[in-house]
Amino acid sequence: MRTVTGPTDRVVVVGAGLGGLACALHLAGTGRQVTVVEREPVPGGRAGRLAVDGYEFDTGPTVLTMPDLIAEALGAVGEELGDWLDLTPLDPAYRAYYPDGSTLDVVTDTTRMAAGIAAVCGPREADGYLRFVEYARELWRLERADFIERNLDAPTDLLTGNLLRLLANGAFRRLQTKINQFFRDPRTQRIFSFQAMYAGLAPHDALAIYAVIAYLDSVAGVYFPRGGVHAVSRALAGAAEKHGVRIRYGTEVTRVETAGGRATGVLTADDEFVPADVVVLNPDLPVAYRDLLPPARRRRLTYSPSCLVLHVGSRQGYARIAHHNIHFGRSWKGTFDEVIRQGKLMTDPSLLVTNPSRTDPSVAPAGRHTYYVLAPTPNLDRAPLDWRGDLGRRYADQLVATLEERGYVGFGAGVEVRHTVTPADWAEQGMAAGTPFASAHSLFQTGPFRPSNLHRSLANVVFVGSGTQPGVGVPMVLISGKLAAARVTGGER
Ligand SMILES: Cc1cc2nc3c(=O)[nH]c(=O)nc-3n(C[C@H](O)[C@H](O)[C@H](O)COP(=O)(O)OP(=O)(O)OC[C@H]3O[C@@H](n4cnc5c(N)ncnc54)[C@H](O)[C@@H]3O)c2cc1C
Repeated sequence: MRTVTGPTDRVVVVGAGLGGLACALHLAGTGRQVTVVEREPVPGGRAGRLAVDGYEFDTGPTVLTMPDLIAEALGAVGEELGDWLDLTPLDPAYRAYYPDGSTLDVVTDTTRMAAGIAAVCGPREADGYLRFVEYARELWRLERADFIERNLDAPTDLLTGNLLRLLANGAFRRLQTKINQFFRDPRTQRIFSFQAMYAGLAPHDALAIYAVIAYLDSVAGVYFPRGGVHAVSRALAGAAEKHGVRIRYGTEVTRVETAGGRATGVLTADDEFVPADVVVLNPDLPVAYRDLLPPARRRRLTYSPSCLVLHVGSRQGYARIAHHNIHFGRSWKGTFDEVIRQGKLMTDPSLLVTNPSRTDPSVAPAGRHTYYVLAPTPNLDRAPLDWRGDLGRRYADQLVATLEERGYVGFGAGVEVRHTVTPADWAEQGMAAGTPFASAHSLFQTGPFRPSNLHRSLANVVFVGSGTQPGVGVPMVLISGKLAAARVTGGER
């Protein structure tokens, strides 16, 4: 494994996103002197917090999987997860709603899940589910150590026995083709393949290796931390500070200073120079190259679709929904085509509605409710829609109307607080192509083909977060923190 060269005692991490914080913890655990310089007044980046009139909203991730990776980051400084977070497993992990009026609860207990599928779709479909669980579990086992939790320096690093096993397993076929070998009912086909969207691709374009995402949420489980997912950010930041990491909030870095092929430190917006032996960059990787580093030839990347998030604080409660609700439209391939290929808004939307106040009433005033509605949209590269005008408001109005048609009676009338975040807002927050989901996980933007976490020419600059390896989402950026730290320490513990 390649590492930075030269001294590594003083590390400056730019950004207290989950990737930056995980990296800081792993570095602090090996005795490095770590300073985190964060633009915002709070930790977490995309896993941030919006507080309006007594309502507390998570700004980004809501589907939290693989808490063992949070435990591992805390464990790097000797802290226990249970002392920092109160996690509830969500049961169901999701409730899926289909256009024919049927619903399916995704539960992580495979026996109960098989029974649920048998009741809705018939026993043959339940058998397919059990075979799928075995398949996806095996994929995860084959992928994790060799390809995900490992710094990959060259494509030849992929040549392991597990690559052959994955090939033999059909993991390099299209995800939808593979899923359809296990499932015949369009409802199960959708609930176990829509996760390709998390990787920025349609299920008919993504590789079957991404069936592991469905494994992680539908089988390994979805959790909710008391207070919301932002509590994870606060926990990691709190543990880091307890163990000597200095976090400087409200401090924007404007440039990485360099001399002789090395970074010497970072310059802040107040013209303060913070010296460093190593600089770790957590801002979105293409934006870090563009704005913070000396000019270099940049690779053209293809980005994931973006999203609009509608946050609603409401007087209206719904007894029959779950914490996470997926409302599928009638169209399937057509919806992906609209958003990804044609650069259009969904005409028959599929939506994620999260209702955190049902699990934790403390996130809303007494007797009130929070809703988080996520609608996939094209990114700004694919379609530079005029989000700065009133498109965001109009589209949010349409989403409210769609939800009312799909059973959320009085959704509009119940609204007390409403806040819309559009691709233009993501761009303003420093995310390339106005998407919070980074470059898509197409074959040539995955593994060793994804932008490296080592700078091409500066010998002591490392990247962390969703723009680099292994990729997008809370579990992956926590792993990226560990991988970035290993680039500094050589993997010492
Ligand atoms: C709406 C939405 C929904 C999502 N849903 C899920 C989900 O359900 N499950 C899941 O697993 N993942 C989800 N994700 C993805 C997940 O949130 C991200 O992949 C992950 O949080 C990214 O972490 P990061 O460390 O790469 O970057 P960030 O969180 O973006 O951290 C970068 C940090 O750097 C700081 N920074 C940037 N520039 C500077 C500068 N110049 N100076 C100082 N500081 C700077 C930023 O303020 C920020 O704190 C979602 C994301 C969004 C936005």
